[in-house]
Amino acid sequence: MWPKKIQQFILTQNQPKFRTNQAIAAFCKFGAKSFADVRVWPNALRETADKTITAMSFVKTQIFQSRDRSTYKATLQLIDGSMIETVLMSPKPGVYSVCISSQVGCAMNCAFCATGKMGLQRSLTAEEIIDQVLFWIQYNQEHHLFDRLHNIVYMGMGEPLANLTAVEESLRILIDSQAFNFSTRHISVSTSGLVLGIAHFAKHWPQINLAVSLHNAIEDERTELMPINKTYSLVKLQKALQNYFHYANRKVFIEYILLKDRNDTTRHAKALIDFIQKIDKPQLLHVNLIIYNETQAGFAGSSKETATVFMQKLKQAHISVTMRKNMGRDISGACGQLAGKNR
Ligand code: SF4
Repeated sequence: MWPKKIQQFILTQNQPKFRTNQAIAAFCKFGAKSFADVRVWPNALRETADKTITAMSFVKTQIFQSRDRSTYKATLQLIDGSMIETVLMSPKPGVYSVCISSQVGCAMNCAFCATGKMGLQRSLTAEEIIDQVLFWIQYNQEHHLFDRLHNIVYMGMGEPLANLTAVEESLRILIDSQAFNFSTRHISVSTSGLVLGIAHFAKHWPQINLAVSLHNAIEDERTELMPINKTYSLVKLQKALQNYFHYANRKVFIEYILLKDRNDTTRHAKALIDFIQKIDKPQLLHVNLIIYNETQAGFAGSSKETATVFMQKLKQAHISVTMRKNMGRDISGACGQLAGKNR
């Protein structure tokens, strides 16, 4: 569903402008699946719209539910046959977040990530991005899981800042009061460290939460895990964060997946502490630790004991840190596991 398409259609039909907002509300707020569900429109207009405009950008869906029912993953087949994945998570009772993809595959090729193994097939359009949120609103109409969605996180397949134009267009619709009306405080965009994109976000989207996937604070080891580090080294990333704080003066989340023996030792904890403490305003950085969810990439997750010791070391250095709950492992819906396959 794309508001501009509806607006153009309404113009061609010589209908009053308010019809556009009626349809947008029916989709975004009430989970309409087609124009037939826009019940405030006259019948003839609904029929013509369904014959003229493709309402949704995906054609087929498959849904997987985790055993503990806290996580749902949907594989969506787009009109051109591409497959993407989106995840609905409930980290605590009554709170629901949606994780959305921004690309089919990803060019960043992080060594531990199932999406990275696919390579980049293409970037998503803004419509394909917001339709993932619409999908869960539609799903909720039948399953009554939540009263409202609390958070939207751009942490699915792809590097959002490598698809900046579409991501920005999608953000505008997500926060538009006539459409989804999400608060900017409840939207997070994650990056593997594209420093130009971070600078752009600092200037244009300071109110949106930014998360940076770090995963290792030792230069050559990070390059092994995340090849983007060759272009945007840790030193450049530190400067980008410094600049971000200058413009946005807002907390940034450092995402750190704990991989057994690869980034979870005392040496790695010290490097992470050092990375953070070298930045002015280190109090504006919050570290989210998450134990790696295994894929076929050949890495193992750290043990709970090792993860706890790692977290303690950060705490002792007065670094703000949380251990994030692992969700959706059994349906390959957890961090780093999305790969657009029917499984
Ligand atoms: S971790 Fe993120 S940036 Fe890295 S390959 Fe996977 S999707 Fe791309």
